[in-house]
Amino acid sequence: DRLKNDFQFIEVGRQDPTKKDISTRKHEFVEIYQPFSQEQVADQSHRCLECGNPYCEWKCPVHNYIPNWLKLVSEGNIVEAAELCHQTNSLPEVCGRVCPQDRLCEGACTLNDGFGAVTIGNAEKYITDTAFAMGWRPDMSKVTWTKKRVAIIGAGPAGLGCADILVRNGVKPVVFDRNPEIGGLLTFGIPEFKLEKTVMSRRREIFTDMGVEFRLNTEVGKDIQMEEILEEYDAVFMGMGTYTYMKGGFPGEDLSGVYDALPFLVSNVNRNLGFEKDPADFISVKDKKVVVLGGGDTAMDCNRTSIRQGAEKVTCAYRRDEANMPGSVREVQNAREEGVEFLFNRQPIAIVGEGRVEGVKVVTTQMGEPDENGRRRPEPIPGSEEIIPADVVLIAFGFRPSPEPWFETHGINLNNWGGVVAPAEQKFKYQTTNDKVFAGGDMVRGSDLVVTAIWEGREAAEGILDYLDI
Ligand code: FAD
Ligand code: SF4
Repeated sequence: DRLKNDFQFIEVGRQDPTKKDISTRKHEFVEIYQPFSQEQVADQSHRCLECGNPYCEWKCPVHNYIPNWLKLVSEGNIVEAAELCHQTNSLPEVCGRVCPQDRLCEGACTLNDGFGAVTIGNAEKYITDTAFAMGWRPDMSKVTWTKKRVAIIGAGPAGLGCADILVRNGVKPVVFDRNPEIGGLLTFGIPEFKLEKTVMSRRREIFTDMGVEFRLNTEVGKDIQMEEILEEYDAVFMGMGTYTYMKGGFPGEDLSGVYDALPFLVSNVNRNLGFEKDPADFISVKDKKVVVLGGGDTAMDCNRTSIRQGAEKVTCAYRRDEANMPGSVREVQNAREEGVEFLFNRQPIAIVGEGRVEGVKVVTTQMGEPDENGRRRPEPIPGSEEIIPADVVLIAFGFRPSPEPWFETHGINLNNWGGVVAPAEQKFKYQTTNDKVFAGGDMVRGSDLVVTAIWEGREAAEGILDYLDI
Protein backbone atom coordinates (compact mmCIF):
# COMPACT_ATOMS: atom_id res chain seq x y z
CA ASP A 1 0.00 0.00 0.00
CA ARG A 2 2.85 2.36 0.93
CA LEU A 3 4.48 1.56 -2.43
CA LYS A 4 1.24 2.49 -4.12
CA ASN A 5 1.23 5.88 -2.37
CA ASP A 6 4.81 6.63 -3.33
CA PHE A 7 3.94 6.10 -6.95
CA GLN A 8 0.72 8.08 -6.84
CA PHE A 9 2.14 10.42 -9.48
CA ILE A 10 2.30 7.52 -11.96
CA GLU A 11 -1.01 5.96 -11.08
CA VAL A 12 -2.90 9.24 -10.92
CA GLY A 13 -2.16 11.64 -13.76
CA ARG A 14 -2.33 15.41 -13.49
CA GLN A 15 -5.93 16.46 -13.72
CA ASP A 16 -6.98 20.05 -14.23
CA PRO A 17 -10.41 21.13 -13.03
CA THR A 18 -13.14 20.83 -15.62
CA LYS A 19 -13.96 23.97 -17.55
CA LYS A 20 -17.53 25.16 -17.95
CA ASP A 21 -19.28 24.46 -21.22
CA ILE A 22 -18.04 26.63 -24.07
CA SER A 23 -21.55 28.00 -24.69
CA THR A 24 -21.55 29.44 -21.14
CA ARG A 25 -17.99 30.66 -21.49
CA LYS A 26 -18.77 32.65 -24.61
CA HIS A 27 -21.48 34.69 -22.91
CA GLU A 28 -21.04 34.81 -19.16
CA PHE A 29 -18.69 36.81 -16.98
CA VAL A 30 -18.13 33.99 -14.49
CA GLU A 31 -15.04 31.94 -13.61
CA ILE A 32 -14.60 29.16 -16.15
CA TYR A 33 -13.13 26.45 -13.90
CA GLN A 34 -15.38 24.15 -11.85
CA PRO A 35 -14.12 23.80 -8.26
CA PHE A 36 -12.23 20.63 -7.28
CA SER A 37 -14.00 18.15 -5.01
CA GLN A 38 -12.30 17.06 -1.75
CA GLU A 39 -11.41 13.70 -3.38
CA GLN A 40 -9.93 15.36 -6.45
CA VAL A 41 -7.82 17.81 -4.48
CA ALA A 42 -6.60 15.04 -2.15
CA ASP A 43 -5.72 12.78 -5.09
CA GLN A 44 -3.93 15.55 -6.93
CA SER A 45 -2.06 16.86 -3.87
CA HIS A 46 -0.99 13.37 -3.01
CA ARG A 47 0.98 13.25 -6.26
CA CYS A 48 3.54 15.63 -4.69
CA LEU A 49 6.90 13.89 -4.25
CA GLU A 50 7.74 16.05 -1.19
CA CYS A 51 11.12 16.85 -2.75
CA GLY A 52 13.81 17.62 -0.16
CA ASN A 53 14.70 20.88 -1.85
CA PRO A 54 11.41 21.88 -3.49
CA TYR A 55 12.05 23.98 -6.59
CA CYS A 56 8.38 25.02 -6.62
CA GLU A 57 8.91 26.93 -3.35
CA TRP A 58 11.93 28.75 -4.73
CA LYS A 59 10.19 29.67 -7.94
CA CYS A 60 7.04 30.89 -6.14
CA PRO A 61 7.68 34.62 -5.59
CA VAL A 62 6.24 34.53 -2.04
CA HIS A 63 7.99 31.20 -1.29
CA ASN A 64 4.86 29.35 -0.23
CA TYR A 65 5.37 26.15 1.82
CA ILE A 66 3.88 24.19 -1.06
CA PRO A 67 4.73 20.52 -0.27
CA ASN A 68 3.71 21.08 3.37
CA TRP A 69 0.25 22.38 2.58
CA LEU A 70 -0.23 19.84 -0.21
CA LYS A 71 0.37 17.14 2.40
CA LEU A 72 -2.11 18.75 4.80
CA VAL A 73 -4.81 19.04 2.16
CA SER A 74 -4.22 15.47 0.97
CA GLU A 75 -4.91 14.41 4.57
CA GLY A 76 -8.02 16.58 4.75
CA ASN A 77 -6.55 19.15 7.19
CA ILE A 78 -8.02 22.21 5.50
CA VAL A 79 -7.77 24.59 8.43
CA GLU A 80 -4.10 23.84 9.12
CA ALA A 81 -3.41 24.12 5.40
CA ALA A 82 -5.13 27.54 5.30
CA GLU A 83 -3.10 28.72 8.32
CA LEU A 84 0.08 27.68 6.55
CA CYS A 85 -0.93 29.28 3.23
CA HIS A 86 -1.51 32.57 5.02
CA GLN A 87 1.93 32.54 6.64
CA THR A 88 3.51 33.44 3.30
CA ASN A 89 0.70 34.82 1.13
CA SER A 90 -1.86 37.54 1.83
CA LEU A 91 -4.20 36.51 -1.02
CA PRO A 92 -3.70 32.77 -1.65
CA GLU A 93 -7.16 32.32 -3.20
CA VAL A 94 -6.34 35.06 -5.72
CA CYS A 95 -2.88 33.70 -6.61
CA GLY A 96 -4.34 30.22 -6.99
CA ARG A 97 -6.63 31.69 -9.65
CA VAL A 98 -4.45 34.18 -11.54
CA CYS A 99 -0.74 33.33 -11.16
CA PRO A 100 0.86 32.08 -14.39
CA GLN A 101 1.66 28.79 -12.65
CA ASP A 102 3.17 27.30 -15.81
CA ARG A 103 6.00 29.85 -15.48
CA LEU A 104 6.21 29.76 -11.66
CA CYS A 105 5.52 26.98 -9.14
CA GLU A 106 4.14 24.36 -11.53
CA GLY A 107 6.80 25.10 -14.14
CA ALA A 108 9.42 24.24 -11.50
CA CYS A 109 7.66 21.08 -10.19
CA THR A 110 9.87 17.98 -10.59
CA LEU A 111 6.91 16.13 -12.12
CA ASN A 112 6.61 18.77 -14.85
CA ASP A 113 9.23 16.70 -16.61
CA GLY A 114 6.97 14.19 -18.37
CA PHE A 115 4.46 13.26 -15.65
CA GLY A 116 2.53 16.52 -15.40
CA ALA A 117 3.13 19.04 -12.59
CA VAL A 118 1.07 18.89 -9.41
CA THR A 119 -1.93 21.25 -9.75
CA ILE A 120 -0.50 23.62 -7.14
CA GLY A 121 -2.55 26.70 -8.03
CA ASN A 122 -5.84 24.87 -7.82
CA ALA A 123 -4.93 23.32 -4.48
CA GLU A 124 -4.09 26.78 -3.11
CA LYS A 125 -7.42 28.16 -4.30
CA TYR A 126 -9.30 25.14 -2.92
CA ILE A 127 -7.68 25.39 0.52
CA THR A 128 -8.57 29.04 1.04
CA ASP A 129 -12.06 28.95 -0.51
CA THR A 130 -12.96 25.85 1.51
CA ALA A 131 -11.51 27.17 4.77
CA PHE A 132 -13.49 30.42 4.38
CA ALA A 133 -16.66 28.48 3.58
CA MET A 134 -16.08 26.46 6.78
CA GLY A 135 -15.97 29.75 8.70
CA TRP A 136 -12.19 29.84 9.25
CA ARG A 137 -10.75 33.32 9.69
CA PRO A 138 -7.17 34.49 10.37
CA ASP A 139 -6.46 34.23 14.09
CA MET A 140 -5.81 37.69 15.52
CA SER A 141 -6.22 36.70 19.18
CA LYS A 142 -2.48 36.84 19.93
CA VAL A 143 -1.87 40.25 18.38
CA THR A 144 -0.63 42.92 20.75
CA TRP A 145 -1.78 46.28 19.46
CA THR A 146 0.71 49.12 19.29
CA LYS A 147 -0.36 52.75 19.00
CA LYS A 148 1.24 53.07 15.55
CA ARG A 149 -0.82 53.87 12.45
CA VAL A 150 0.38 53.53 8.86
CA ALA A 151 -1.33 55.03 5.81
CA ILE A 152 -1.40 52.86 2.70
CA ILE A 153 -2.08 54.46 -0.66
CA GLY A 154 -3.60 51.91 -3.02
CA ALA A 155 -5.72 48.84 -2.18
CA GLY A 156 -4.14 46.67 -4.89
CA PRO A 157 -2.21 43.48 -4.07
CA ALA A 158 0.86 45.46 -2.93
CA GLY A 159 -1.16 47.63 -0.53
CA LEU A 160 -3.13 44.64 0.77
CA GLY A 161 0.04 42.58 1.29
CA CYS A 162 1.50 45.45 3.32
CA ALA A 163 -1.72 45.92 5.35
CA ASP A 164 -1.84 42.19 6.14
CA ILE A 165 1.64 42.09 7.71
CA LEU A 166 1.19 45.39 9.55
CA VAL A 167 -2.14 44.47 11.13
CA ARG A 168 -0.82 41.05 12.22
CA ASN A 169 1.95 42.96 14.03
CA GLY A 170 -0.44 45.27 15.84
CA VAL A 171 -0.02 48.31 13.59
CA LYS A 172 -3.23 49.90 12.36
CA PRO A 173 -3.29 50.21 8.54
CA VAL A 174 -5.57 52.83 6.97
CA VAL A 175 -5.86 52.12 3.24
CA PHE A 176 -6.82 54.90 0.82
CA ASP A 177 -8.02 54.08 -2.69
CA ARG A 178 -9.70 56.19 -5.34
CA ASN A 179 -11.80 53.21 -6.46
CA PRO A 180 -15.10 52.16 -4.86
CA GLU A 181 -13.81 48.62 -4.10
CA ILE A 182 -10.49 47.14 -2.95
CA GLY A 183 -8.25 45.03 -5.22
CA GLY A 184 -6.71 47.54 -7.65
CA LEU A 185 -6.31 45.66 -10.94
CA LEU A 186 -7.72 42.53 -9.30
CA THR A 187 -11.10 44.27 -9.36
CA PHE A 188 -10.68 46.97 -12.02
CA GLY A 189 -8.58 45.14 -14.62
CA ILE A 190 -8.63 41.34 -14.40
CA PRO A 191 -12.04 40.20 -15.67
CA GLU A 192 -14.54 38.03 -13.79
CA PHE A 193 -13.90 34.96 -15.94
CA LYS A 194 -10.47 34.75 -14.25
CA LEU A 195 -11.41 36.14 -10.84
CA GLU A 196 -14.98 36.67 -9.66
CA LYS A 197 -15.38 39.88 -7.74
CA THR A 198 -17.03 38.31 -4.71
CA VAL A 199 -13.53 36.98 -3.94
CA MET A 200 -12.38 40.56 -3.34
CA SER A 201 -15.48 41.72 -1.44
CA ARG A 202 -15.05 38.69 0.87
CA ARG A 203 -11.41 39.70 1.41
CA ARG A 204 -12.49 43.28 2.20
CA GLU A 205 -14.74 41.94 4.96
CA ILE A 206 -11.99 39.66 6.30
CA PHE A 207 -9.34 42.41 6.32
CA THR A 208 -11.82 44.81 7.94
CA ASP A 209 -12.55 42.28 10.70
CA MET A 210 -8.79 41.91 11.21
CA GLY A 211 -8.55 45.65 11.88
CA VAL A 212 -7.64 47.14 8.49
CA GLU A 213 -9.53 50.35 7.75
CA PHE A 214 -10.43 51.15 4.13
CA ARG A 215 -11.14 54.68 2.92
CA LEU A 216 -12.48 54.04 -0.57
CA ASN A 217 -13.48 56.63 -3.18
CA THR A 218 -10.61 58.72 -1.78
CA GLU A 219 -7.86 59.89 -4.11
CA VAL A 220 -4.64 61.07 -2.50
CA GLY A 221 -3.65 64.40 -4.04
CA LYS A 222 -7.30 65.29 -4.68
CA ASP A 223 -9.63 64.25 -1.85
CA ILE A 224 -6.87 64.24 0.76
CA GLN A 225 -3.38 65.71 0.50
CA MET A 226 -0.10 63.91 1.18
CA GLU A 227 0.87 66.66 3.73
CA GLU A 228 -2.10 65.69 5.89
CA ILE A 229 -1.25 62.00 5.64
CA LEU A 230 2.41 62.52 6.50
CA GLU A 231 1.41 64.56 9.53
CA GLU A 232 -1.20 62.14 10.81
CA TYR A 233 0.52 58.76 10.33
CA ASP A 234 3.75 57.19 11.58
CA ALA A 235 4.70 55.95 8.08
CA VAL A 236 3.23 55.68 4.58
CA PHE A 237 3.26 52.84 2.04
CA MET A 238 2.56 53.59 -1.62
CA GLY A 239 1.29 50.75 -3.84
CA MET A 240 -0.28 52.83 -6.58
CA GLY A 241 0.43 50.71 -9.65
CA THR A 242 1.28 51.87 -13.18
CA TYR A 243 -1.41 53.60 -15.19
CA THR A 244 0.19 55.26 -18.24
CA TYR A 245 -0.86 53.32 -21.33
CA MET A 246 1.91 52.46 -23.79
CA LYS A 247 1.30 53.57 -27.35
CA GLY A 248 2.41 51.96 -30.60
CA GLY A 249 3.66 55.24 -32.04
CA PHE A 250 2.14 54.54 -35.47
CA PRO A 251 -0.40 56.58 -37.49
CA GLY A 252 -4.12 56.23 -36.78
CA GLU A 253 -3.99 55.57 -33.02
CA ASP A 254 -6.30 58.57 -32.45
CA LEU A 255 -9.01 57.37 -34.86
CA SER A 256 -12.49 56.88 -33.48
CA GLY A 257 -12.99 53.22 -32.57
CA VAL A 258 -9.45 52.79 -31.18
CA TYR A 259 -9.31 52.25 -27.41
CA ASP A 260 -6.68 51.53 -24.80
CA ALA A 261 -7.15 48.14 -23.16
CA LEU A 262 -7.74 49.23 -19.58
CA PRO A 263 -10.60 51.73 -20.14
CA PHE A 264 -12.32 49.00 -22.18
CA LEU A 265 -11.91 46.39 -19.43
CA VAL A 266 -12.78 48.82 -16.63
CA SER A 267 -15.95 50.01 -18.39
CA ASN A 268 -17.01 46.38 -18.65
CA VAL A 269 -16.33 45.67 -14.95
CA ASN A 270 -18.08 48.88 -13.93
CA ARG A 271 -21.18 47.85 -15.82
CA ASN A 272 -21.14 44.31 -14.39
CA LEU A 273 -20.56 45.51 -10.82
CA GLY A 274 -23.04 48.40 -10.98
CA PHE A 275 -20.30 51.06 -10.59
CA GLU A 276 -21.04 52.69 -13.96
CA LYS A 277 -21.52 56.46 -13.50
CA ASP A 278 -22.62 57.29 -17.07
CA PRO A 279 -23.84 54.69 -19.63
CA ALA A 280 -21.82 56.64 -22.26
CA ASP A 281 -18.63 55.40 -20.53
CA PHE A 282 -19.38 51.81 -21.57
CA ILE A 283 -17.33 50.62 -24.55
CA SER A 284 -19.39 48.05 -26.44
CA VAL A 285 -17.94 45.78 -29.14
CA LYS A 286 -21.18 43.88 -29.75
CA ASP A 287 -21.47 42.81 -33.41
CA LYS A 288 -18.11 44.49 -34.17
CA LYS A 289 -14.99 43.17 -35.84
CA VAL A 290 -12.41 43.59 -33.08
CA VAL A 291 -8.64 43.54 -33.49
CA VAL A 292 -6.63 43.29 -30.27
CA LEU A 293 -2.98 44.34 -30.50
CA GLY A 294 -0.58 42.75 -28.00
CA GLY A 295 0.30 39.33 -26.60
CA GLY A 296 0.23 39.66 -22.79
CA ASP A 297 -2.37 38.97 -20.12
CA THR A 298 -4.12 42.27 -20.81
CA ALA A 299 -4.51 41.40 -24.50
CA MET A 300 -5.97 37.99 -23.59
CA ASP A 301 -8.45 39.65 -21.24
CA CYS A 302 -9.52 42.06 -24.01
CA ASN A 303 -9.94 39.15 -26.43
CA ARG A 304 -12.09 37.14 -24.09
CA THR A 305 -14.15 40.12 -22.89
CA SER A 306 -14.89 40.99 -26.53
CA ILE A 307 -16.09 37.43 -27.17
CA ARG A 308 -18.43 37.65 -24.19
CA GLN A 309 -19.78 41.03 -25.29
CA GLY A 310 -20.84 39.39 -28.57
CA ALA A 311 -18.24 40.68 -31.03
CA GLU A 312 -18.71 39.44 -34.61
CA LYS A 313 -15.06 38.41 -34.83
CA VAL A 314 -12.03 38.79 -32.55
CA THR A 315 -8.52 38.73 -33.99
CA CYS A 316 -5.40 39.08 -31.86
CA ALA A 317 -2.32 40.28 -33.72
CA TYR A 318 1.07 39.83 -32.06
CA ARG A 319 4.47 40.74 -33.46
CA ARG A 320 6.37 37.69 -32.23
CA ASP A 321 5.57 33.97 -32.55
CA GLU A 322 3.47 31.98 -30.10
CA ALA A 323 6.50 30.62 -28.22
CA ASN A 324 7.65 34.17 -27.47
CA MET A 325 4.31 35.46 -26.17
CA PRO A 326 4.49 37.06 -22.73
CA GLY A 327 0.95 35.92 -21.75
CA SER A 328 0.25 32.75 -19.77
CA VAL A 329 -0.04 29.63 -22.00
CA ARG A 330 -3.27 28.72 -20.18
CA GLU A 331 -4.92 32.04 -21.07
CA VAL A 332 -3.90 31.84 -24.75
CA GLN A 333 -5.44 28.38 -24.90
CA ASN A 334 -8.63 29.59 -23.19
CA ALA A 335 -8.90 32.49 -25.64
CA ARG A 336 -8.43 30.17 -28.59
CA GLU A 337 -11.10 27.75 -27.31
CA GLU A 338 -13.53 30.65 -26.96
CA GLY A 339 -13.08 31.59 -30.61
CA VAL A 340 -10.27 34.16 -30.76
CA GLU A 341 -8.21 34.00 -33.94
CA PHE A 342 -4.48 34.58 -33.44
CA LEU A 343 -2.26 36.14 -36.06
CA PHE A 344 1.33 35.67 -34.94
CA ASN A 345 4.34 37.46 -36.40
CA ARG A 346 2.24 40.46 -37.42
CA GLN A 347 3.57 43.87 -36.44
CA PRO A 348 1.08 46.76 -36.66
CA ILE A 349 2.42 49.71 -38.64
CA ALA A 350 -0.76 51.84 -38.94
CA ILE A 351 -4.42 51.97 -38.07
CA VAL A 352 -6.31 52.97 -41.20
CA GLY A 353 -9.74 54.49 -41.86
CA GLU A 354 -11.59 57.59 -43.02
CA GLY A 355 -12.73 59.36 -39.83
CA ARG A 356 -13.01 56.10 -37.95
CA VAL A 357 -11.11 52.83 -37.86
CA GLU A 358 -11.55 50.46 -40.79
CA GLY A 359 -8.54 48.21 -40.36
CA VAL A 360 -5.06 47.60 -39.02
CA LYS A 361 -2.13 47.59 -41.40
CA VAL A 362 0.38 44.94 -40.35
CA VAL A 363 3.63 43.63 -41.70
CA THR A 364 4.70 39.99 -41.30
CA THR A 365 7.79 39.45 -39.17
CA GLN A 366 10.37 36.72 -38.75
CA MET A 367 12.19 36.04 -35.52
CA GLY A 368 15.69 37.53 -35.42
CA GLU A 369 18.49 37.60 -32.84
CA PRO A 370 17.66 37.84 -29.11
CA ASP A 371 17.41 41.38 -27.65
CA GLU A 372 18.94 42.54 -24.34
CA ASN A 373 16.23 40.61 -22.43
CA GLY A 374 16.97 37.41 -24.31
CA ARG A 375 13.72 37.52 -26.30
CA ARG A 376 14.07 37.12 -30.05
CA ARG A 377 13.49 40.35 -31.92
CA PRO A 378 10.79 40.45 -34.60
CA GLU A 379 12.14 41.62 -37.98
CA PRO A 380 9.68 42.90 -40.61
CA ILE A 381 9.67 41.12 -43.97
CA PRO A 382 9.61 43.78 -46.72
CA GLY A 383 6.58 43.74 -49.02
CA SER A 384 4.44 41.62 -46.64
CA GLU A 385 1.99 44.40 -45.63
CA GLU A 386 -1.70 43.50 -45.34
CA ILE A 387 -4.79 45.08 -43.79
CA ILE A 388 -6.87 43.28 -41.16
CA PRO A 389 -10.43 44.67 -41.30
CA ALA A 390 -11.60 46.17 -37.97
CA ASP A 391 -14.46 48.25 -36.52
CA VAL A 392 -12.74 48.43 -33.13
CA VAL A 393 -9.05 48.22 -32.20
CA LEU A 394 -7.98 47.55 -28.61
CA ILE A 395 -4.39 48.45 -27.79
CA ALA A 396 -2.77 46.29 -25.10
CA PHE A 397 0.91 47.24 -25.23
CA GLY A 398 1.41 47.45 -21.48
CA PHE A 399 1.83 50.18 -18.90
CA ARG A 400 4.41 52.71 -17.79
CA PRO A 401 4.60 54.38 -14.38
CA SER A 402 2.28 57.29 -13.65
CA PRO A 403 4.11 59.40 -11.04
CA GLU A 404 2.07 62.10 -9.28
CA PRO A 405 3.31 65.70 -9.13
CA TRP A 406 3.33 65.50 -5.31
CA PHE A 407 6.09 62.86 -5.34
CA GLU A 408 8.65 65.55 -6.11
CA THR A 409 7.20 67.92 -3.49
CA HIS A 410 7.81 65.26 -0.87
CA GLY A 411 11.28 64.19 -1.99
CA ILE A 412 10.15 60.84 -3.43
CA ASN A 413 12.66 60.22 -6.23
CA LEU A 414 12.12 58.35 -9.49
CA ASN A 415 14.57 56.30 -11.54
CA ASN A 416 15.27 56.83 -15.25
CA TRP A 417 12.10 55.01 -16.41
CA GLY A 418 9.79 56.74 -13.92
CA GLY A 419 9.64 53.99 -11.29
CA VAL A 420 9.78 55.01 -7.63
CA VAL A 421 13.22 54.38 -6.11
CA ALA A 422 12.64 51.98 -3.19
CA PRO A 423 15.25 49.19 -3.20
CA ALA A 424 14.84 45.94 -1.31
CA GLU A 425 18.49 45.88 -0.26
CA GLN A 426 18.95 48.67 2.26
CA LYS A 427 18.58 49.19 6.04
CA PHE A 428 14.79 49.56 5.80
CA LYS A 429 13.51 47.46 2.90
CA TYR A 430 11.53 49.35 0.22
CA GLN A 431 12.07 52.76 1.83
CA THR A 432 11.88 55.61 -0.69
CA THR A 433 14.10 58.69 -0.67
CA ASN A 434 11.62 60.17 1.83
CA ASP A 435 12.45 58.28 5.07
CA LYS A 436 8.83 58.08 6.18
CA VAL A 437 7.54 56.74 2.85
CA PHE A 438 7.85 53.17 1.54
CA ALA A 439 6.71 51.78 -1.82
CA GLY A 440 6.29 48.50 -3.69
CA GLY A 441 4.49 46.63 -6.45
CA ASP A 442 4.16 47.74 -10.07
CA MET A 443 5.10 51.38 -9.32
CA VAL A 444 8.54 50.21 -8.12
CA ARG A 445 9.28 47.15 -10.30
CA GLY A 446 7.26 48.08 -13.41
CA SER A 447 4.06 46.24 -14.42
CA ASP A 448 4.44 42.65 -13.37
CA LEU A 449 2.33 40.15 -11.48
CA VAL A 450 -0.13 39.98 -8.62
CA VAL A 451 2.12 37.67 -6.61
CA THR A 452 5.22 39.87 -6.97
CA ALA A 453 3.19 42.90 -5.85
CA ILE A 454 1.98 40.96 -2.79
CA TRP A 455 5.58 39.97 -1.98
CA GLU A 456 6.85 43.54 -2.19
CA GLY A 457 3.97 44.86 -0.08
CA ARG A 458 4.71 42.26 2.60
CA GLU A 459 8.45 42.92 2.48
CA ALA A 460 7.90 46.69 2.67
CA ALA A 461 5.76 46.10 5.77
CA GLU A 462 8.78 44.39 7.35
CA GLY A 463 10.82 47.47 6.43
CA ILE A 464 8.19 49.71 8.03
CA LEU A 465 8.13 47.59 11.23
CA ASP A 466 11.92 47.93 11.48
CA TYR A 467 11.67 51.68 10.82
CA LEU A 468 9.04 52.01 13.56
CA ASP A 469 11.20 49.81 15.81
CA ILE A 470 8.44 47.25 16.40
P1 FAD B 1 -2.58 47.96 -8.70
O1 FAD B 1 -3.22 46.61 -8.71
O2 FAD B 1 -2.60 48.74 -9.94
O3 FAD B 1 -3.25 48.79 -7.53
C1 FAD B 1 -2.95 50.14 -7.33
C2 FAD B 1 -4.09 50.82 -6.61
O4 FAD B 1 -3.69 52.14 -6.25
C3 FAD B 1 -5.35 50.97 -7.45
O5 FAD B 1 -6.46 50.46 -6.77
C4 FAD B 1 -5.47 52.48 -7.65
O6 FAD B 1 -6.82 52.91 -7.68
C5 FAD B 1 -4.78 53.00 -6.40
N1 FAD B 1 -4.29 54.37 -6.54
C6 FAD B 1 -3.39 54.84 -7.45
N2 FAD B 1 -3.18 56.16 -7.25
C7 FAD B 1 -3.95 56.52 -6.19
C8 FAD B 1 -4.14 57.76 -5.51
N3 FAD B 1 -3.52 58.87 -5.85
N4 FAD B 1 -5.01 57.77 -4.47
C9 FAD B 1 -5.68 56.65 -4.08
N5 FAD B 1 -5.51 55.46 -4.71
C10 FAD B 1 -4.65 55.40 -5.74
N6 FAD B 1 -1.08 39.55 -12.98
C11 FAD B 1 -1.13 38.22 -12.70
O7 FAD B 1 -0.37 37.76 -11.85
N7 FAD B 1 -2.01 37.40 -13.35
C12 FAD B 1 -2.89 37.86 -14.26
O8 FAD B 1 -3.67 37.09 -14.82
C13 FAD B 1 -2.89 39.25 -14.56
N8 FAD B 1 -3.78 39.77 -15.44
C14 FAD B 1 -3.78 41.11 -15.65
C15 FAD B 1 -4.74 41.63 -16.50
C16 FAD B 1 -4.81 42.99 -16.73
C17 FAD B 1 -5.87 43.54 -17.63
C18 FAD B 1 -3.85 43.85 -16.12
C19 FAD B 1 -3.88 45.31 -16.40
C20 FAD B 1 -2.89 43.34 -15.27
C21 FAD B 1 -2.85 41.97 -15.02
N9 FAD B 1 -1.91 41.42 -14.16
C22 FAD B 1 -1.94 40.08 -13.88
C23 FAD B 1 -0.92 42.26 -13.45
C24 FAD B 1 -1.36 42.58 -12.02
O9 FAD B 1 -2.73 42.88 -11.99
C25 FAD B 1 -0.55 43.75 -11.46
O10 FAD B 1 0.83 43.44 -11.58
C26 FAD B 1 -0.86 43.99 -9.97
O11 FAD B 1 -2.24 44.26 -9.78
C27 FAD B 1 -0.04 45.16 -9.42
O12 FAD B 1 -0.40 45.42 -8.10
P2 FAD B 1 -0.18 46.86 -7.41
O13 FAD B 1 -0.75 46.72 -6.05
O14 FAD B 1 1.23 47.26 -7.57
O15 FAD B 1 -1.03 47.88 -8.29
FE1 SF4 C 1 2.18 29.11 -7.41
FE2 SF4 C 1 1.46 31.69 -7.35
FE3 SF4 C 1 0.62 30.03 -5.43
FE4 SF4 C 1 3.19 30.74 -5.55
S1 SF4 C 1 1.47 32.10 -5.14
S2 SF4 C 1 2.37 28.65 -5.20
S3 SF4 C 1 3.50 30.90 -7.79
S4 SF4 C 1 0.08 29.90 -7.60
